[in-house]
Amino acid sequence: MISNKKIYDLVIIGAGFAGLYSLYKAKLAKLNVIAIERASNVGGTWYWNRYPGARCDVESMQYSYQFSNELQEEWEWTEKYATQPEILKYANHVADRFKLRENIQFNSEIKSAKFNSDKNHWELINNTNQLIKTKFCIMATGCLSTLNKPKFKNIESFKGEIYHTGNWPHHHINLKNKKVGIIGTGSSAIQCIPEIINEVEHLYVFQRTPHYTVPARNKPLKYLKGKTKKYMREPVGYDNDLFIEEVKYNYSNFRLKAQNSVAAMALPINHQSALNVSKERRETVFEDRWNKGGVPFIAAFEDLNFDREANETAAKFVRNKIKSLVKDSHVAKLLTPDYPIGCKRLAVDSNYYESYNKPNISLVDLKTTPLEEFYAKGINTSKNHYELDIIILATGFDAMTGTLFNIDIEGKNNIKLKNKWSEGPKNYLGLASSGFPNLFTISGPGSPSVLTNMIVSIEQHVNWIFDCIEYMKNNNKNFIEASLKAENEWYKHNQEVSIDHVRSSCSSWYIGANIKGKAKNFMPYVGGYSKYVEKCDEVSKNNYQGFILK
Ligand code: NAP
Repeated sequence: MISNKKIYDLVIIGAGFAGLYSLYKAKLAKLNVIAIERASNVGGTWYWNRYPGARCDVESMQYSYQFSNELQEEWEWTEKYATQPEILKYANHVADRFKLRENIQFNSEIKSAKFNSDKNHWELINNTNQLIKTKFCIMATGCLSTLNKPKFKNIESFKGEIYHTGNWPHHHINLKNKKVGIIGTGSSAIQCIPEIINEVEHLYVFQRTPHYTVPARNKPLKYLKGKTKKYMREPVGYDNDLFIEEVKYNYSNFRLKAQNSVAAMALPINHQSALNVSKERRETVFEDRWNKGGVPFIAAFEDLNFDREANETAAKFVRNKIKSLVKDSHVAKLLTPDYPIGCKRLAVDSNYYESYNKPNISLVDLKTTPLEEFYAKGINTSKNHYELDIIILATGFDAMTGTLFNIDIEGKNNIKLKNKWSEGPKNYLGLASSGFPNLFTISGPGSPSVLTNMIVSIEQHVNWIFDCIEYMKNNNKNFIEASLKAENEWYKHNQEVSIDHVRSSCSSWYIGANIKGKAKNFMPYVGGYSKYVEKCDEVSKNNYQGFILK
C-alpha cells in the first residue's frame, strides 16, 4: 500500500489512540496521508499489553475520545475501569467506524527518518527497506512502547518460558500447575499478580522496590436503559454514582471539568491542606477515598503532591492499610514503601495486598538477597535457588524517549535526535524539537502526557498540530521549526516546576532512572494540564510564537 513514488502530505507513525485520531483529522483535512504501524492491528499500548489482569486505571467514561459526539453516545463501557480487551475492542471500533484502516500499513516498522533540507521533506525507511517521503511527520509512537528488558546474567540459559508483560503473547498461556516467577512490582505486576495467583501452583514475586497501590473498587457501570429518563439529573462535576445516561446527558460539562484540571481528569477535588485539618478529619477523608477507590486518593488534599509533610500523612495511611491487609507481618513490612506516595506512579489494584495471604505465593526481597543470575531451571538469588517453569518480566519500559531513539531520526545538518537529547529531551511544548522541522511528537517528553488522562492529552496535541498545519496552508508556509530559544526556555521551565514536585523525589521511569545510561531528567511536564493548554493556545494565537515558519 505504501507508495514510494509520491510525497505524502503526512506520515503518522503508530496506530494507537494518538495515531488513530491523527489519521481521522488528516482525512478530514483531505491530506494525502498514511499511518505506519509495526503491529498487525490497531490499539498501540492496548495491543501489546495483554497480560492477565491488564486494565486502565482511568475511568472508562473519561478514558475515551470526545471528538465525536456520536461515538461517545453510542459506545457502552461495561465497567468503571475497562479491561484491556474492551479498550482494544473500542480502538478497533473507532478504526472501523471512521474507515481508518484503508490508510494504515500494518506490520511495518519505521527504522529511520531523515530530513532532506534541499527538498524540505522527510525520507523514512521501514523494515522492508521501503522509502516513504513526506512533508510532515507525526510521531504517534506512544510513551510506554519500548520494553525494558534488563540484561540478567545467563538469561539465555533458562529452559522454561519467559514473557514480558508489555509484549504478552496473543495465545493463551497455561499457568496451571506451574511454578511461576514474576520480576518487578510496578503497575503491571500489581494488576497481574492477583489474577494469576488463582491459577499457578506457586508464584514467586521478585521485588526490588515496593510500590504504593490503592484499591480500584472496580464495578459494573450502571445503565438506566431508558427506564427512568424523566428523573435524569444534570451531572454536576464528578460523581461516581451517576447512571451512564446521566453522564452522557451532559457529557460536555463533564469533559470540561477534565479540561480545566491538572491531570485532564474530572476528579473530586478537595482544596484543603492535609496539614490544616485535624488528625480525625484527615483520616476520615483518606478512608473515604480509599473506600471509593482509584487515583482520586492522591487528590484527597491539595498539598499531597507538593508538601512532604502532607504527603507523609497519606503515605502513612497506606502503610497502615498494608499492615492491616497482609497477615504475615514480615511480608507486610517488605511490601511497605518508605518513599513519598505518588512519586512512582500510584498503582490501582484489585486485591493486590490480599494476594499475599494466599498459601501459594512467596515474596522474594531482592534488596537483601539480590538476583544474581538465571540458570537452566530458574533464578538464583544470593540466598536461594528458585526452580521455575515460567518467568514473567514485569520490568516496565524505556519510557518516553525509548521508541523515538529506536528510530534513527536525523534532522537538519545531520543532527541525530539521539545525540541532541543525550543529556535530556529538549523540545518546545513536547511538540517539536529544534533542528527537526515539520516533525511533531504526540504526548512527547516536555508535555503533561503520562501524568494525565492520555486520551484527553492526545486529542489536545492532535488538535493543536492540525490547527497549525491549516494555519501554514492558509499562510503559504511549508516549514515549521521550534526555535532554540523557545525550547531552551521551555526545558528550563519544565525542570524548574519538577524540582519541588513529589514526582521527582525518588527513582522512577519519569526521570529515566530505570534505564542504565539514560540521562536523568524529569521528562513529562508536571506544571498541570490546564496551564499547559493555556500556553499552547497562547502560542498558536500569537502566530506560533517560538516557532520559525517559512
Ligand atoms: P514499572 O513501573 O517501571 O515497574 C517495573 C518494575 O520492575 C519495578 O518494580 C522495578 O523495580 C522492577 N525492575 C526493573 N528492572 C529490574 C531489575 N533489573 N531487577 C529487578 N527488578 C527490576 O513498569 P510497569 O509496571 O510496566 O508500569 C509502567 C507504567 O505503565 C506505569 O507506571 C503506568 O504508567 C503504565 N501502566 C499503566 C497501567 C494502568 O493503566 N493500569 C497498568 C500497567 C502499566 P524498581 O522499582 O526497583 O526499579
